[in-house]
Amino acid sequence: MSKENTSIHDFDIQLICEYYSYVERQGPGSPEVTKRALGFIENLNGQSRIADLGCGTGGQTMVLAQNTPVKITGIDLFPRFIDLFNENARNLNLQHRVKGVVGSMDDLPFKPEEYDVIWSEGAIYNIGFERGLKEWNKYIKKGGYVAVSEVSWFTSERPKEIDDFWMDAYPEIDTIPNNVLQLQNAGYIPVAAFILPVNCWTDHFYAPQVEAQKAFLEKYKGNKTAEDFIANQRHEEQLYYKYKDFYGYVFYIGKKM
Ligand code: SAH
Repeated sequence: MSKENTSIHDFDIQLICEYYSYVERQGPGSPEVTKRALGFIENLNGQSRIADLGCGTGGQTMVLAQNTPVKITGIDLFPRFIDLFNENARNLNLQHRVKGVVGSMDDLPFKPEEYDVIWSEGAIYNIGFERGLKEWNKYIKKGGYVAVSEVSWFTSERPKEIDDFWMDAYPEIDTIPNNVLQLQNAGYIPVAAFILPVNCWTDHFYAPQVEAQKAFLEKYKGNKTAEDFIANQRHEEQLYYKYKDFYGYVFYIGKKM
């Protein structure tokens, strides 16, 4: 990659991070769904530990903390998200149990079997579903859990427009039964798989972005990268409304054997 490209790429990432730091969640989800997934996990107590990978600014992490007595480590690649994460934890007086750390999900600073649960909402795609489930297994105690949400196909066939879009954006996208099989092959008993309701996209993900997009376009008026990025976001949203019967987010919960 040339130097020029590197700096453009860096600028893109900075812009994308800034945009997403305006909103509470960086991926589809909701407090109700986090609590529902938590309902499948047994035996958590004050000594238990959860790692939340790709935690972003901590939308779901704070829900986990408010509904369990456990200690939580949030890991995200972007320092700006981790700063906001730790600020959110302080504002909710959770800083003694909830800590955000900058790090990468493909190079975790954890000890073997350190965690009772590995949680990851809308983020495992960064390493890949199968690879993430396999690599993270060693950090989970025997009898502990993995709980991840991942974009998935609802049907074995779908219209070309949406198939092409996802094959380009994330070719690893798969159907629910295939993902459940990958969960099992990665060393977990499949405990649950449930589809996130449409409001996780509409009310909790896209609606808050309307204001964020306005503010962002105002701030970066005339900046082509910023304008292209927002156009892309809007295109993705339109595709969701058009094809939401064919794909969506699914929560997968597995128990380590
Ligand atoms: N869990 C949050 C954020 C999901 S968006 C939510 O549901 O709101 C995906 C997140 O993964 C972003 O915060 C992004 O910064 C983070 N991320 C991307 N690559 C990563 C990596 N290699 N390691 C850790 N986090 C990563």
